[in-house]
Amino acid sequence: MAKRKARVLEKGAEEIYEGDRLKRFSERNIAFKKVSEDLGQPWFEVWLKNMLGQYKRAQIGDKVHVKDVREARAHIALWVGATTWNRLTMPYGEGHENEGFLTWNPINVPPPFRGDPEPDPDPADLTKKIKQIARLLGASRVGIAQLNRKWVYEETCRNIYAPDTPVTKKIVFREVPAPEETETELVIPEDVRYAVVSIFDVNRTLASIGSSSIDTSVATNIGYSRMGLTDVALAEAIRAFGYTAIPCKNGTGLSIPLAIDAGLGQLGRNGLLITPEFGACVRISKVLTNMPLVPDKPIDFGVTEFCENCMRCAKTCEVEAITLGERTTEPPVETGNPGALKWYIDGKKCLNYWIDSGASCTACQAACPFTQSRYEVLDPPTVWEMDVPVPYGIET
Ligand code: SF4
Ligand code: SF4
Repeated sequence: MAKRKARVLEKGAEEIYEGDRLKRFSERNIAFKKVSEDLGQPWFEVWLKNMLGQYKRAQIGDKVHVKDVREARAHIALWVGATTWNRLTMPYGEGHENEGFLTWNPINVPPPFRGDPEPDPDPADLTKKIKQIARLLGASRVGIAQLNRKWVYEETCRNIYAPDTPVTKKIVFREVPAPEETETELVIPEDVRYAVVSIFDVNRTLASIGSSSIDTSVATNIGYSRMGLTDVALAEAIRAFGYTAIPCKNGTGLSIPLAIDAGLGQLGRNGLLITPEFGACVRISKVLTNMPLVPDKPIDFGVTEFCENCMRCAKTCEVEAITLGERTTEPPVETGNPGALKWYIDGKKCLNYWIDSGASCTACQAACPFTQSRYEVLDPPTVWEMDVPVPYGIET
């Protein structure tokens, strides 16, 4: 696939989506919650049971057989390692706003620096430094979004994996000196106007093992673990400059439109961010802040026009969760936010496939030509033989 030149746009994601009817989304409608409600039990419990069933049959996912049970256990051990920092930094972030390491308050910042920035800040200089800090802390690429509040969740849902009635708290903006949480609300200061958006490239070889397998879950969980470590540390760095920082991972707001506003990519038919560097094989996170920054602008490198005719992700999906039709403003199920002109995916079909196969799927990321143009791995080696790049070029 020929490389495409990116055009800088003067309009944000809301205009790109033609989304004047868009409303703020509630976490109570995310697929994990809705599918748990449908199942009448936490989706993860069913997933885990099916995963262990696959293991006993020497399988690590849908139609993915390995030599024996011992080999299946090695893949599960890798998965446990991959998920560890994601779990310790509050799994995925959704439902965990201002909890644990995702606290909205300083953790380890020297007290004299807290809430006390240097006078006369230079936004261009701060932007350059904060992007470099995010990269050094683990992000693959970083952009700055002017915070459109439509992308901030209307409310958190504290029991997103449970089938019970949603336990929610409104997320509101108010004139307060620092972020706070009450019995009923999570309060973001009015002057929080930017999102530092980071993307984390996902191992393409692992993401190609499936369609649904434990190894694809390893790929995404390494991304979530990296984003947890980076977001928590980046929030602390921003606080050391004297500003407010709200680390989010997947929580607090919608990652994809924020990444579009931050100039990191475009939305694809597969419902994912497509980036020029890594295609669809990325995870996205964000830290909200009142640090004065220079926002980036959205880009267009031809994704929408390409997706009109490509359809490869839709034909790859085992459960037809991706549409072959036109863009629309109506999602097929309540896990989508209505009012944006785009290709909606059926989040319930997708998650149910993960649950049934006791694994997770990245087939629509791996199949995308924008992903494949970045990587040459057409015949992936096994997990144990693939080349793992050495950080900073240090030979061992
Ligand atoms: S939409 Fe879901 S089930 Fe379909 S290919 Fe993508 S990840 Fe897999
Ligand atoms: S596989 Fe094709 S249709 Fe799907 S997101 Fe990628 S380019 Fe678009």
